[in-house]
Amino acid sequence: MTTGIDAEALREKYRAERDKRLRPDGNEQYIEPVGKFAHYLEDPYVAPTPREPLSDEVTVAFIGGGFAGLVTGARLKQAGIDSVRIIEKGGDFGGTWYWNRYPGAQCDTAAFVYLPLLEETGHMPSEKYTHAPEILDHCRRIANHFDLYDDACLSTEVTGLDWDDDAKRWIIRTNRSDEMRARYVAMGTGPLHRPKLPGIAGIECYEGHSFHTSRWDYEYTGGDPAGAPLDRLGDKRVGIIGTGATAVQCIPHLARSCGELFVFQRTPSSIDVRNNHPIDPDWFETLEPGWQAKWLMNFTTLQTGGFADEDLVMDGWTDIGKRIRDKVMSSGKEFTRENFIEAYEDSDDEKMTEIRARVDALVHDRETAEALKPWYRQLCKRPCFHDEYLDAYNEPGTHLIDTDGKGVERIDATGVWANGEHYELDCLIYASGFEVGTEYARRAGFDAVGRGGEKLSEHWADGMQSLHGIHVHGFPNLFVVGPTQGANLISNIPHNLTEAGQTIATIIAHTIDVGASEVEVTETAEQAWVERLEAGAVARMTNSPDCTPGYYNNEGQPTGRRGRLNSMGYPEGPVAYFQYIDAWRNSGDFEGLEFR
Ligand code: NDP
Repeated sequence: MTTGIDAEALREKYRAERDKRLRPDGNEQYIEPVGKFAHYLEDPYVAPTPREPLSDEVTVAFIGGGFAGLVTGARLKQAGIDSVRIIEKGGDFGGTWYWNRYPGAQCDTAAFVYLPLLEETGHMPSEKYTHAPEILDHCRRIANHFDLYDDACLSTEVTGLDWDDDAKRWIIRTNRSDEMRARYVAMGTGPLHRPKLPGIAGIECYEGHSFHTSRWDYEYTGGDPAGAPLDRLGDKRVGIIGTGATAVQCIPHLARSCGELFVFQRTPSSIDVRNNHPIDPDWFETLEPGWQAKWLMNFTTLQTGGFADEDLVMDGWTDIGKRIRDKVMSSGKEFTRENFIEAYEDSDDEKMTEIRARVDALVHDRETAEALKPWYRQLCKRPCFHDEYLDAYNEPGTHLIDTDGKGVERIDATGVWANGEHYELDCLIYASGFEVGTEYARRAGFDAVGRGGEKLSEHWADGMQSLHGIHVHGFPNLFVVGPTQGANLISNIPHNLTEAGQTIATIIAHTIDVGASEVEVTETAEQAWVERLEAGAVARMTNSPDCTPGYYNNEGQPTGRRGRLNSMGYPEGPVAYFQYIDAWRNSGDFEGLEFR
């Protein structure tokens, strides 16, 4: 028992709350935005510029213009490779930050470590947690700085990717009738980019206005992504379904603007302190060259329970790691995985008790406060950090419609049914998140076809197989960019991507230098990497059987080996991985790869 907390009673409460929410359809409960729902995916920001279909050749094609494409493109240019084409379905660079322009959007990891290539581009973040417009500008800054606009194909969706073994080229087909060739292809299509809708009965019947948060309709709401008031909502009854990280950021803005706001909640998020503040340019001037690499390693070390002389970032993420580490220290026990997990449970009980107390301190209405308390461990769901979200429920026109884990009952032509009551609405906003754990080809919109006609989805039918999360046997000159089977650092995704970009640029430059036309991981090296990761794989803290369901744990459904392969990382943790991969790529041996 942790001082003052009955851990057993807490565990029982957590299990009861989980059981209320477990449902057999798991991930299948959501609706894919296709057919009559396809309009929820339309780009509201940029109309495609007409152009002729392309049938040319580039050295490197990168699929996806988010951070993965930007940082890999930058590293390729730095390595002297000029012919780099980024293909992006959005009308500009930015990925997540292109699509997500909802009011209040901001980074949840401190900008000094979250925003890549700050030193290279000479940018000082204006705030500790910068808002979305500044992040989108930074994406454009990277693209401009490294001349990535020159050969970019924007508003262009890849529909086919085939390896031509005779020509040693990838053939890329798109929805703009392009048929381009590339010597090398890299893919950074994002783990969470395809919006999903809640599978609520009658959703197709709703006749009011509706949109998904990742396609915010400012035309309807008024306001802008910079935070101007949503001045067209003053006489509107607005409903929002979902209370995840996105909803937490936009609800304060809606609460200030809507005539009436109805928040339909299935599970409350945990809302820790944000403590945002502007950055002092004089202080920024004092940072020495190489500061960002130092900050990145400092954050990763502390966030994952390691030791450093100082905490440069000092936020809720590093607080989680430091609390666990200090618990092990004070117990006098060894730093084993088991002791770490025991310490995690204790420190988490304390943290969640603080988070629930914070709800009581900030929300005036007792019933609303009770309903906003999260009853699960902090890492069962994406932790949220906000200093205005809870206060929003003190606005007289804002109503929390808690459904006690059951969710919205049904939707009809005029509104939403929950707890047996009908809520008539002018507008319904879906803050229902993004597909996770579905087939990669379904999320990407194409399937890579490698040597001998093998599809990547077939190669990965029983789970991801790779070396370093980057190379796949049977798919020469193809590179995957993402956290899985690499560092798997979830608290700062861009850090994984920047490292992968560096690795890929080094390998492509080497392939060109040695005059090889193909680079491919051997079957043995791929198998050895997967075995190594699997042997050391430990259940993620986000994946405890006591967790309330969500996308961190496959909606509470067992995932088996496939799920493990699709979510595992380097067993010794992100810091060890970053050190390992740096040594691997600098050794010049590229062990496991074959250059032909
Ligand atoms: P989430 O998947 O986290 O949230 C979806 C929400 O919809 C949940 O609250 C879910 O409830 C609710 N929901 C689903 N079905 C129903 C239903 N039938 N009835 C009522 N409610 C329902 O999506 P988000 O867009 O909020 O966040 C996705 C991820 O995007 C984050 O976890 C984070 O990784 C990233 N993100 C990052 C940000 C940043 O870094 N600044 C900001 C925002 C998002 P339940 O919990 O019960 O499933």
